[in-house]
Amino acid sequence: EGRSEGIVIKDDWPGYSLDLFSYPAHYSGDLDCVIIPHGVIMDRTERLARNIMDDLGNHAIVVLCVLKGGYQFCADLVDRIKDLSHNSNRTIPMTNDESTEDLHILGGEDLSLLAGKNVLVVEGIVGTGKTMKTLLKHVEAFGPKMIKVAGLLVKRVPHSSACVPDYVGFEIPNRFVVGYALDYNEYFRDLSHICVISDTGKMKYKI
Ligand code: 5GP
Repeated sequence: EGRSEGIVIKDDWPGYSLDLFSYPAHYSGDLDCVIIPHGVIMDRTERLARNIMDDLGNHAIVVLCVLKGGYQFCADLVDRIKDLSHNSNRTIPMTNDESTEDLHILGGEDLSLLAGKNVLVVEGIVGTGKTMKTLLKHVEAFGPKMIKVAGLLVKRVPHSSACVPDYVGFEIPNRFVVGYALDYNEYFRDLSHICVISDTGKMKYKI
């Protein structure tokens, strides 16, 4: 199964005007545009679930969700995978585990269950890939049989470490995005679309 960069959003794509969609009124002025509407995220996620099932459907999978940015994507992806496995009369036993962006919280005993398992790591966004690389090294130490990574978004960044997920939702420009559980200082988690933050928004929620 070939690796894919997903849906490619070009640098010159201006996004959709916010006026065309609904979003929480308290964010008015804080966003530049909608870069990926919620419905498109869901449609793409459904297809990724199918690709994952085609590759891994005959095995038990342990899903490792990278909090907090990957939370929404992970929840929706797992739902779609469950739908597919019900419809095909194949059920994949799935275990959910939680990890965090703060790798120190990953306790040794929690992840020992990964030994010999097929692990699917689910990330919301990959920038330089440094975070993912560190996480994968950590997970590998527990001796899983196989590790696959699903990333909803991969940024085109100049010095990326060539650590690309096996399943990619969208390849996006190197701009700061929020929404669909991706936050800026804890704000914008209640936004369902993936949007580009505005300068006003950056200032307002700066810490
Ligand atoms: P890395 O550069 O190591 O791939 O990513 C560093 C961290 O920044 C990761 O936790 C990633 O989730 C987060 N990150 C990178 N780009 C964005 C972005 O555009 N928006 C948000 N909300 N988080 C980002």
